[in-house]
Parts: sequence; structure tokens; C-alpha cells
Amino acid sequence: MRKIKSILVIFLLIHLVLMPAYIFGGDNFTLVIHGGSGNIPRETITEQEMIEYESVLALALKHGEQMLKSGADALDVVVEVVKILEDSSLFNAGKGSVFNIDGRNELDASIMCGKTGNAGAVAGVTTIKNPIEAARKVMEKSPHVMMIGKGAELFAFEQGVTIVDPSYFFDQKRWNQYREVLRKSQGSIDNEDQNEKMGTVGAVALDKNGNMAAATSTGGMVAKKYGRVGDSPIIGAGTYAENGVCAVSATGHGEFFIRNVVAYDIAAQVKYAGKTIEEAAGNIIKGKLADLKANGGVIVLDKDGNVAMVFNTTAMFRGYINHKGESQVKIFED
Ligand code: ASP
Repeated sequence: MRKIKSILVIFLLIHLVLMPAYIFGGDNFTLVIHGGSGNIPRETITEQEMIEYESVLALALKHGEQMLKSGADALDVVVEVVKILEDSSLFNAGKGSVFNIDGRNELDASIMCGKTGNAGAVAGVTTIKNPIEAARKVMEKSPHVMMIGKGAELFAFEQGVTIVDPSYFFDQKRWNQYREVLRKSQGSIDNEDQNEKMGTVGAVALDKNGNMAAATSTGGMVAKKYGRVGDSPIIGAGTYAENGVCAVSATGHGEFFIRNVVAYDIAAQVKYAGKTIEEAAGNIIKGKLADLKANGGVIVLDKDGNVAMVFNTTAMFRGYINHKGESQVKIFED
């Protein structure tokens, strides 16, 4: 009798330990990434460039998949994946960021943890190699949510984040693009040409424990005014994550994303109105923002690992991977 009792107790204990896995779907994990959106004519991207973009996106996904497979936290995954994209000069974040009107690089980034609701961001930084790392430090090592400019750089340095000379961010193609925008606009930048601005990067992840996280990093918009801050480092506009609801990272014309609180709008639709992430993202990106002629897109992940990658431009660099081994990398609509 005693033996049966102890077997029963062991059985119950095992199931108690496995309870979170039952509730949150066990080995279920998903990672979604983006590398910006824009109205890019297909013919302006060469086959070679296409391959280069797709291979960096695939590499980032693969790295994230390995981490998630081995039980890594969603927060660690979004940071590592965004760092890969920041380090690639193909994207407008970290190395390869666009130039502002002064011909300098001013970088923004943010991160949010869906489990705790904590968030961190940096804006207008010029010497932090990986702004997403600094955003995480702000979240975890300071009582604040957002730090800007010199203060953010000093704090990042004190926290051991890698500091570089501003020339590290220089990229000849971006410089040429900046010169071209200046030439075309003859000094008055009205942000009309959306083709020039894409390249912001972002990641959202759901880990095996059901935790979610979102991260976004950008150089902003080409020839932006000194000190201009877009949506990417604004929690609720460019980045949002809440366990049990969804995780969002945005890209596009930041001013509109701030005014329309895009990332949180999607989460609120899911949470309070019971919309699917596809419906919620469609309502704001293809509905409200399209009506306002505001270009951009979002990647969204829900608590069950469903993925939405919605944009109102001709292209969004994007991809996802999940525990079933399903994986996709795409640039254009089809
Ligand atoms: N959203 C970014 C910003 O406005 C730019 C982009 O996503 O392309 O700074």
C-alpha cells in the first residue's frame, strides 16, 4: 500500500513540475524577425543582394532557433538575434545605419519583456556598438525605461557595453544614399521618399516557458533632423510584449507609428477585443495607417506561436522559425 502511495506521489510531482509545459504548450517556441519595410521596386534589388539579405536573415533565425531549442529565454534570444542584424551593414541599425541631416548616425533601440512588463530603451546614441544591449541594460540595471544621448552612452560604458568611434557605423552605400537624398531635396527633407528609409530591425520571440519578448533597433530615417527620435525606441509604438497576449516589433514611418501607438494598439485589440494578431495588425497597418498614407509594417507573435507579418509597402524583409521546423524568409509579398 505504502509503495502504491509513493508511486502516486511521484507521479503527481512529475506532473506538477510539467504543469507550465502543459499550459504553455511544452516545447512550443517561435521566433519572428524583420529587417525593415519599404516601397522598393523589385528590379532595384539584384539577385546577389537578394541572396545576401536572405542569408543574413536566415542566419539570424538559425541562431535564434538553436538558442530557443536549448531552452534559452525569449529575452536573450531577441537581443542576440537583433545584434546579428545590427552587426550586418545591410540593415539600417547598428553598423550601416542611415545618416541624419548633419551626416551623423544617431541610433535608437528598445526592448520589452513580456513576463515582467519591464522595458528599456536608448535614443540618439552615437557610440554604442549594439544599441539593443544598452536598451537591455537600461531595463535591467537602472530604475528607468529610456535614456538618451550622452547620458545613455555613459551609462552603457559603465555597464560594460562595447563603445566604438562613431566612424564604426559608416557605410559607403548609406553615405551615397544620404548625399542623393540631400541632392534631390535640395536641403528641404519632407520624408516623402519611403524607398530610402527601410532597414530597421526587430525580433519577437516565444520561448519554451511561454515567455515573450520584443526588440527593435534602428538608425531612424535618412536625413532626419538632429535629435529626432522615431517609434523604434518608444514602448507601445515600435515595440511591445505582454505574456499571454502578443509581442510586436514595428518598422515604418515613425511619426505615424508614435501618433497611433501601433504596437500597443495591436496588443489591445488582441487582449480586449479578442482579435487575432492577423486581424489586429491588418486593422492598423492596412487600415488606419494606409488611410493616412503612412508606410510600414509589423511582425507579431501570439501566445500560441501564431505569426503575423503585415505591411502596407511593397516589401518587408522578414522571416520566422518555430519548434516544428517550419521556417520562412521573404522580402516581397509573394
Ligand atoms: N521606424 C523607424 C523610424 O521611424 C524607421 C524604419 O522603420 O524604417 O525611426
